[in-house]
Amino acid sequence: MSSPQPRYNPDGSLIQARQLTMTYPNGAGDIQVLRGVSVSLHPGEMLAIMGPSGSGKSTLLYILGLLLKPTGGSYWLAGEDVLALDRRAQALCRRERLGFVFQTCDLLENSTVYENLEFPLIYAGVSPRERRERILMALEQVNLGHRLRHAANRLSGGERQRVAVARALVNRPQVILADEPTGQLDHRQGHLVMDHFEAVAERGTGIIVVTHDPEIAARCHRIYPLRDGRLEMAAPRREGRVADG
Ligand code: ADP
Repeated sequence: MSSPQPRYNPDGSLIQARQLTMTYPNGAGDIQVLRGVSVSLHPGEMLAIMGPSGSGKSTLLYILGLLLKPTGGSYWLAGEDVLALDRRAQALCRRERLGFVFQTCDLLENSTVYENLEFPLIYAGVSPRERRERILMALEQVNLGHRLRHAANRLSGGERQRVAVARALVNRPQVILADEPTGQLDHRQGHLVMDHFEAVAERGTGIIVVTHDPEIAARCHRIYPLRDGRLEMAAPRREGRVADG
């Protein structure tokens, strides 16, 4: 992967985004959703983004996931100016550096749990033996080792969410982006997912969680409320870094 820009992450950050803006075109007048969002993420950090429905949380996560191009601003992922990359290089970046957990889980319904986790690894060119090792490890991490051969459409809501978490883990991403990852779970299962994220973060992965739930947000190192298209000052909740705004 090559970038026309020099790398810039003197502090070793995974994410450095500056003054991101997003305006959706609309017949009756453009909708300005993000009005200058700056955010950073460091290895091992868990960051929560909160805000009312429609405040732009998913938009921000999609931009950070290179699924949506912002109208303005800059974004370095592990020191790479990823907005300057072409679509193909961005896709590679998504595959190799980012893991996604979306509320809808988007599992392949007629495939087994194993197959759901195996596809991204086949795509990434991982050998069959290593695929098996990684899949078993990821499923153990989310306590689903016994569901290996289950079809996705036979899983409970909580199990589906945990398969989605395991799928984000198998590629060993530097950053996990999670949109309401506990949205369909009860209290205990929601905290179990956060336990898994915590264990992954302890090994150096950076995690951004979009959530409505203050209890889930409180398990992150920093909490950013998103209001009026801007991230407000981070509220430190646990020992961790405090920066940006
Ligand atoms: P949240 O995740 O906080 O609920 P979203 O990022 O989904 O917010 O949406 C923020 C605003 O942007 C909403 O008003 C939504 O209607 C609008 N929006 C989102 N996606 C599009 C789109 N593709 N085209 C036009 N407007 C959009």
